[in-house]
Amino acid sequence: MEHLTLHEGCRVKLDDWDPDDTGKDFDKNSALTELDTLHQQMADLQEVFYASGKYALLIVLQAMDAGGKDGTVSHVMRGLNPAGCAVTPFKVPSAEELSHDFLWRIHKAVPARGQIGIFNRSHYEDVLVVRVMQLAPEKIWRARFEQINSFEKNLAQNNVIILKFFLHISHTEQTERLRARLEDPTKNWKITPSDLEMRTKWSDYQKAYEEVLECCTTEYAPWTIVPANKKWYRNLVVAAKIVKTLKSLDLHFPPPAPGLEKIRIE
Ligand code: AMP
Ligand code: MG
Repeated sequence: MEHLTLHEGCRVKLDDWDPDDTGKDFDKNSALTELDTLHQQMADLQEVFYASGKYALLIVLQAMDAGGKDGTVSHVMRGLNPAGCAVTPFKVPSAEELSHDFLWRIHKAVPARGQIGIFNRSHYEDVLVVRVMQLAPEKIWRARFEQINSFEKNLAQNNVIILKFFLHISHTEQTERLRARLEDPTKNWKITPSDLEMRTKWSDYQKAYEEVLECCTTEYAPWTIVPANKKWYRNLVVAAKIVKTLKSLDLHFPPPAPGLEKIRIE
């Protein structure tokens, strides 16, 4: 799955990335078994991650509407101890948030060392919806690519590990998922008339995403394009990337407090 993670300076045409891709190593059943294993590994790794308190992990989830951000949060993060993680959704900014720079609300939600933070939408909305819906002039949003890269570099230099996932679905898959939201009363709450307006802007969004993926992939904060039409494969890709990243940190439990060796509990 390594090829799904981009490298700095890459060019991206989303049409070349198949949202139906499911790799060649797993089918649905074996992927579910593998996901169980990954959950167990994630739980073990999270414990040493928390205990060592050396790094923070920031997971950014972006997708088109109905792309599966909520589903990814619940399926993939099932493996984590809630005490050491927090999910932050980013909605339309409040009046107070709008009276600050766009990164103000984001920075406040960045996880502390030892913690895992998941962003359901993020600062990338400020170069996506803001661009497509023309909520700010180009001069403003275009300057944000560089501002985002410097912000993420600052975080990375301060021991925040950053993983960014673009959940890539097809237009047809989005149509089916939005239709289900309209037709199923238990899913009505997930859809608003504005989602249907966004849908008409599909190609503008794809273009905006392509530029985000190209301009804001850095070695310290890479994007992974997750084929997301098949939920089981989406969950597998995200979980595998998190586990691999946590393993690569080669963390150890901290040494015992001085004097602990002399203490006996009778
Ligand atoms: P949902 O994630 O479905 O609850 O919807 C949240 C909505 O907030 C989406 O329509 C986003 O595009 C919108 N949103 C998030 N961040 C921003 C932002 N910075 N500016 C404008 N709209 C935003
Ligand atoms: Mg929505």
